[in-house]
Order: sequence, then structure tokens, then C-alpha cells
Amino acid sequence: MPIVQRIQQVAGVNGGWSGDGGYMKKYDIVAIGENLIDFAPAKEQELGKLAFSGSPGGAPANVLACASKLGLKTAFISKLGMDVFGALFKQTMVDAGIDISGLVETDKYPSTLAFVSLDESGDRSFSFYRNETAECMIMMDELPSGLLSEAKLFHFGSVSMTAEPARTTTLQAVKQAKESGAVIAYDPNLRELLWSSLEEAKAVMTEGLQYADLVKLSDNELVFLSGESDLEAGMRLLFERHSFRYLAVTMGARGSMCMDGGGVSYQPAFEVKAVDTTGAGDAFWGAFLYQYLHNELDRKGEKKDVPYMLRFSNAAGALTAMGYGAIPSMPVLDEVCGLAGKE
Ligand code: ADP
Repeated sequence: MPIVQRIQQVAGVNGGWSGDGGYMKKYDIVAIGENLIDFAPAKEQELGKLAFSGSPGGAPANVLACASKLGLKTAFISKLGMDVFGALFKQTMVDAGIDISGLVETDKYPSTLAFVSLDESGDRSFSFYRNETAECMIMMDELPSGLLSEAKLFHFGSVSMTAEPARTTTLQAVKQAKESGAVIAYDPNLRELLWSSLEEAKAVMTEGLQYADLVKLSDNELVFLSGESDLEAGMRLLFERHSFRYLAVTMGARGSMCMDGGGVSYQPAFEVKAVDTTGAGDAFWGAFLYQYLHNELDRKGEKKDVPYMLRFSNAAGALTAMGYGAIPSMPVLDEVCGLAGKE
């Protein structure tokens, strides 16, 4: 069956998908997470002034943007500041085709801002403006239960678990979605500056692992969470400790690996001219989730082609690294299939 037809089925156009209680659910992927504006140094700089160029960001929103561009039906849950930044974020979600009925707005708290500066040797440093910002203040009673019960797959990260009340709200959303039969996907995404200590980061990031069916880590995060410097040993350790179906590990220009019940698969990255790797990991994960949903639909009971899932996801990551910014450079399905080849 051509992949375009398959995705119409995944999206519920030709009926429903029955994986994990997902039959006839309205959304392929619902995610909860942070919303912020990332300010990168502007190309034109004037002596004695600071010039930045701001783009909406946040890993879970980026993952949805990729999945939505590939053809999935997605929805985002977050709390937005009613300022110019929140307005830009909201418009970007709409333009990416993401359902925004789960966005709550507040005029009580401002939006989160992150500024990147480069020192003389080109090294990056971050200044975060995130004290009691809107996305951190999302409350449990603001969760849209309709979206949580209508998700085939529910995705979350750890940035929305760095501060209360968002931490409790995020975990509550995960539990509610899981109880409604959603498959749970998790990308812990370590951002050291946002935690009060690395011990706390490790404890909370690890707490999220217990709910997850599908997990994505970067190689550094795998070492951090497993305490093993050997990647395969670290994957095995986490896989044995938890009940994942898939554990994917990304390694930048070195490609990616995945462990499932059948063992470990590895796929090299595509050789491309990378100009900005922002969002490559999120595109990788959006593409991986796309493959997961498509496999559950078409290949129930059959052995999944994990190397192809990785190849497809690597292609999405590589294509995103070829353009500037995260969401603007995410590829459409034809582009990913063009690079990855058809299955
Ligand atoms: P993160 O660290 O955010 O998880 P990575 O930087 O590891 O993400 O990138 C995710 C995937 O994107 C990689 O596994 C790889 O397939 C692809 N990718 C990233 N950087 C490059 C690059 N420079 N060249 C080719 N592919 C890349």
C-alpha cells in the first residue's frame, strides 16, 4: 500500500486504528510541554547593542510540528502568556496544523524567553527568563480531559517538569492519557540550567521513564541517566529496569540506535551539509512516532522493520539540520521518503 494511503488510515480518514485502545480516537499524537521564544543572535550586529532574532520553540511542540507536517493529526497542551510572544507561538502552532484547543491563555504571567549568545570563540551560552512564566504555571484543572482521552499516543518531556505546578500537571496528564489507553512517548531532554541540581534532574527525569512505552534519549542523556559510558550497556540497563517497547538513542552526525525486544539496531546518519542542528532531535522523534503509528496500523503481529524506522527518522533529522531554525526546516513526507527510500 502506498505510504500516503497508509497515513490517511493512521489519521483516521479511512476508519480507525486499534492499537492499545486507540480505535477511532481523534488525535494521533497529543503532547504537553513548554512554550517559549528562542532568541538567537541576529545576523546583523551593531557595536554596543544586542540584536536577536526570535523563533517559537520547545521540544514537544517541535515534535508535533514534525508529525503534523508528515500528515498526523496532533494537538498541544500548554499555558500561554497573553503577550506578543504567546501570540507568535500560537500562530506558529496554527500554521503548523497543530490543534490548539488545549492551549490556555493567561494575562497574569508572561511568556518564557531564552536568549542565546555567542562568545568570541563562537561558544553558546543561554540566558533564560523563566521565573513564574505562563508555561510553568499550568494547573491540573486546566488539563483538557477531552484531548487526553482522545490521544492514540501521548508525548511529554522533562522541561515542563523542572518547576511546579507544571511538574505535577505534566505527570497527571501522562497518567490520565495512559489510563485512557494512549501509548506514552517520552523525550527527557536534559537542560541543565533549568534544574536546581543535577541530582534533582536525574530523579525527576527517571520518574518519567516509568510511564513510558517509547523513549528517546541523546547519547549524553543516556550516559547521564544510566550511569554507563558504554551506550549499549546503558540501553540494556534502562531497558531491563523499565517496561519500554522502544528505546531510541540519537548521536548527532553519527546516526542513531534503537533497542526493542529483539535487540539493538544501528543506522548511520545521512551525509548532508548541516547548517543548524536545532530541532534535528525533535524531527527525528516526530518521524519515529509517525513510523510507530504506521507500523501498529499495518503490521500488527508482524515483525517491525526497526532499521527502516531509524533510517526514516535519521532522514527527518538530517533534513532539519540542513535548514535554519527548527519548525521552518522540518521536512514533509515526500522529502523524508526521498532521502530514506521507500520501505
Ligand atoms: P538530539 O541531540 O537533539 O537528540 P541529534 O543532534 O542527535 O539530536 O540529532 C538527531 C538525529 O538527526 C541524528 O540521530 C541524525 O540522524 C540526524 N542529524 C543530526 N545532526 C546531523 C548532521 N550533522 N548530519 C546528518 N544528520 C544529522
